[in-house]
Amino acid sequence: MPLRQRVALISGANRGIGFETAKQLGSQGMTVLLGARDLAAGEKAARELRRSGAEVLAVQLDVTSQAQVDALKSKIDSEYRRLDVLVNNAGGFYDPASRASTMDIDIARDVLDTNLMGAWRLSEMAVPLMRRHGYGRIVNVSSGCGSMACEGPESPAYRVSKAALNALTRAFAAELIGSGILVNAVCPGWVATRLGGRGGRAVSEGAAGIVWAASIDEPAPTGQFFRDGQSIAW
Ligand code: NDP
Repeated sequence: MPLRQRVALISGANRGIGFETAKQLGSQGMTVLLGARDLAAGEKAARELRRSGAEVLAVQLDVTSQAQVDALKSKIDSEYRRLDVLVNNAGGFYDPASRASTMDIDIARDVLDTNLMGAWRLSEMAVPLMRRHGYGRIVNVSSGCGSMACEGPESPAYRVSKAALNALTRAFAAELIGSGILVNAVCPGWVATRLGGRGGRAVSEGAAGIVWAASIDEPAPTGQFFRDGQSIAW
C-alpha cells in the first residue's frame, strides 16, 4: 500500500506533539486528518502544514464528545472509506501540585474523560474502518508517569489516566492479534510544549517515537510500551 493512499487521524493536533506528529506523517506522504477541538485553530495548523506540500485536512474533534466522534466516523467512511493510523494524542492536565488525598473528584473525572475515554471512543470508532482493509496502527500517547514503576505523589489524576491508557492498550492489542491492527503505547519523553513547559527535548524528537510506532511494518510488536522505539517498563 503506497503511503500516499494511507489515511491518518491525530487527535489534539493543532499544537504541541500532535502538530509535530501530523507534520512528520504528512511529510511521509500520508493523508493526515488533523483533529482539533477548536476548528479555527485546526484550520490554521493545517494551512501551515499544507504549505510544505503535505496533504492535511483539519477536522473538528473534541475527544470528550461522542457526537463529534460519530460525525467524524461518517465523514471518514464516506470520503476515504479507510483509516490506517490513529494517534490518540489529545490530552494533558499534568498538575504536579495536586495530590490524591485532596484531588477534586470532578476534575479527576474530566482528566479521565479526555486522556482515557477519548482514546477509547476514538479506538472504537477506528477499529471497524481498519478491519475493512486488515491494516491499522493505533498509537496511544502515554507517559512514563503512567508507569507503575513511577514513584512520587505528583499529578495523581494524570498518572492514573495514563496507567489506565496503558491497560487499554493491552486490551485492544490482545483483542486484535492477527488482524493486522497493531496497538502500542508510546511515551514521547519530556518535551517542550505547553504541557511539558521547558521540556528536556525538542518536539520533533518526542514525535519521532510516535511516528515510528504509527509506521512500523509487520512483523512488529503490539501491546507494548515504547520510548524512542525501545520497550520500557509498564
Ligand atoms: P499540549 O498542551 O501542547 O497539547 C495538548 C493538545 O491536546 C492540544 O492540541 C489540545 O487542544 C488537545 N486537547 C486537550 N483536550 C482535548 C479534547 N478534549 N479534545 C481534543 N483535543 C484536546 O501538550 P503536548 O503536546 O505536550 O501533549 C500531547 C500528548 O503527549 C498528551 O497526551 C500528553 O499527556 C503527552 N505527553 C506529553 C509530555 C510532554 O513532556 N510534553 C510527556 C509525556 C506525555 P487545545 O489547543 O484546544 O487546548
